[in-house]
Amino acid sequence: MMAGMEGLMAPDHARPCPVCGDADDSRVFAEAAYDLSKLGEHAFASRKVPEYMHYRLVQCPTCDLVYASPVPAAESLVRAYGEAAYDSGAEAACAARTYGRILKPYLSRLPDLGMAIDVGAGDGAFLTELADAGFESAMGVEPSAAPIAAASPRVRPWIRHGAFREEEYPAGEASLITCFQTLEHLPDPMEFCRAAFRLLKPGGALLVVDHDYRHVVNRALGRRSPILDIEHLQLFSRRSMVEMLRRCGFAGVEARHITNRYPLHYWLRLAPLPGGLKRRVCDAARQTWLGRITIPLPVGNMVAVGYKPISS
Ligand SMILES: [Zn+2]
Repeated sequence: MMAGMEGLMAPDHARPCPVCGDADDSRVFAEAAYDLSKLGEHAFASRKVPEYMHYRLVQCPTCDLVYASPVPAAESLVRAYGEAAYDSGAEAACAARTYGRILKPYLSRLPDLGMAIDVGAGDGAFLTELADAGFESAMGVEPSAAPIAAASPRVRPWIRHGAFREEEYPAGEASLITCFQTLEHLPDPMEFCRAAFRLLKPGGALLVVDHDYRHVVNRALGRRSPILDIEHLQLFSRRSMVEMLRRCGFAGVEARHITNRYPLHYWLRLAPLPGGLKRRVCDAARQTWLGRITIPLPVGNMVAVGYKPISS
């Protein structure tokens, strides 16, 4: 276990629903399941091999959010991300292309292609998509140092290293804020969405991609679903996502399911197989053309969008 991770062993902060504030935590979605002695440096890296570890998860009876409670102190989480390892450049590029494809139909609805901010930018692969889509300025922010070190020379200067901080951006000037597979990790996702709202210009959009725990894929996998993860402090459904964005002031809010395109060897890595067998299968697949072909699959993800009203 890494030095910065001791704090994760003390999930002692009980919290109400981070979207609607309901304190009724009697509906247990999954009891805590973790063995922190097995937690490696990849536990807080994106697109890692799933470990089937998670904090106690409860389902909010009011807004449908599933959230971890109790959780560790926010500082422990920030430290764990800062030190997380990174080895998924190829997959990040595939994900960025998927997100670029998802973004396309929304571009014509934006007020302009001025400033875009990508929160949880990783190695900046999606910043390339934003620049290629015509944005004048594409800025990323990423708490982990390793993916930034792996960024291409073109986009590395556009990525700020650290936690997202609203005050580092001009208020009311962004046309688009994107946040992919990141809201689940934030101690306070509502506060992030409210900050995004303030940074957007009227008509600007917040576009997020996250898991939908109610998606048939995740329901079928049950306790073996990779979304039950120690990194995920909350899990959204389409209903709870729409609820959160509306509560933050967004209009025209919608959430729909998407497919992701990844190479076959990546899909195999997420499959619920025993660890040793999985490693052998993935390594073998990576060596072949078959393992490298990209395949679109529904993986239980959704895209959600909300617009800052013109009149606000
Ligand atoms: Zn709630």
